[in-house]
Amino acid sequence: MEASSRRGVRVRHVDQPPYVVDESRIERYDQVNLIFNRIGNDPSWDCYLHDEEAVGLQSIREAKPGYDRVDYALAEAAWTVHDVWTQAFSWDRLERPGGPSLMGDKWYKTRYEVDDVPEMTRKVKKAARFFGASLVGVVEINMNWLYANHRYSLEPLELPEGVRYAVVVAVEMDELGIATSPEVPAAAATGVGYSRLAFIASSLSEFIRNLGYTAVPASNGVGLSVPLAVDAGLGELGRNGLLITPEYGPRVRLCKVYTDLPLEADKPIEFGVHEFCRTCKKCAEACEVEAISFEDEPSYDGVCKSSSPGALKWAIDGEKCYKYWCENGTDCSTCISVCPYNTGRTEAHADEFWASP
Ligand code: SF4
Ligand code: SF4
Repeated sequence: MEASSRRGVRVRHVDQPPYVVDESRIERYDQVNLIFNRIGNDPSWDCYLHDEEAVGLQSIREAKPGYDRVDYALAEAAWTVHDVWTQAFSWDRLERPGGPSLMGDKWYKTRYEVDDVPEMTRKVKKAARFFGASLVGVVEINMNWLYANHRYSLEPLELPEGVRYAVVVAVEMDELGIATSPEVPAAAATGVGYSRLAFIASSLSEFIRNLGYTAVPASNGVGLSVPLAVDAGLGELGRNGLLITPEYGPRVRLCKVYTDLPLEADKPIEFGVHEFCRTCKKCAEACEVEAISFEDEPSYDGVCKSSSPGALKWAIDGEKCYKYWCENGTDCSTCISVCPYNTGRTEAHADEFWASP
């Protein structure tokens, strides 16, 4: 079995992804059940129409340490590129408002002939890193991991014809920011992660389109990032429901670009995460609302309307998790910060974050 070292962690490259699914129960995820959709469409849920605003405003009024006006200003600003520049996730080539570049608009409409797929794959990965990716892998898409429908319209979702691969990208999140969780600088670190993904995914998509191929960029949209990233060899699934990478543990954000460009898929990896998670349970102990399972063994069952059955995992109770975000007045990354695989600081406060250079 092939093995290698990634940031000092010995990993085994395996032929099959390190998870088990019950094919009779796996279905493409219906985004009507997405926690963020249910806030607005599920009156049966006690967080229907609830958000972080009331507690956040109270914290600002009280200048609560870690939750003051400056902290919130940073967090809101961190999301700017992701939230404002929605074109980043366009399924089509982006128009230049000032018209085509001096190269004109004909050259990218013919397909670049790929006669060396491994070399093309290497260049795509190089481009992803050049645009800011911390980790990048390629996978032949398991269609089970595509959403059944689009997030807002809920219309059926299908990829453009011929799209078979996904380039999966992870970006490292700021270690001191994440260490402050559940204080607001952790939310800022998350926001920067998403904004960087918007830049990387859109730039990488334009690179592929300039070669005459289709590119569909997505952060959390279009499909489930974690299993795609596991399939692409970026890491393994942890008890906390997140991708655990050898390089950063779960302290990453994920995006992907789906494409018909011929590429060579990576092999999945194993480095003992599943066995370690069976006994570790630090994320479950640290979660304020017990949204993470304490069970020794994973299960094929979901634990709430938003979690999907069929894959053997420790399911996360997204209802409890989101409720805590509302009570906290901002989102939470504690199950990232405390994880022993996190290669950054595990605990800090906002004053230390702001005092650091
Ligand atoms: S994000 Fe926070 S509340 Fe949600 S599961 Fe992780 S530790 Fe628990
Ligand atoms: S904190 Fe422990 S149990 Fe949780 S994901 Fe990390 S290693 Fe696994």
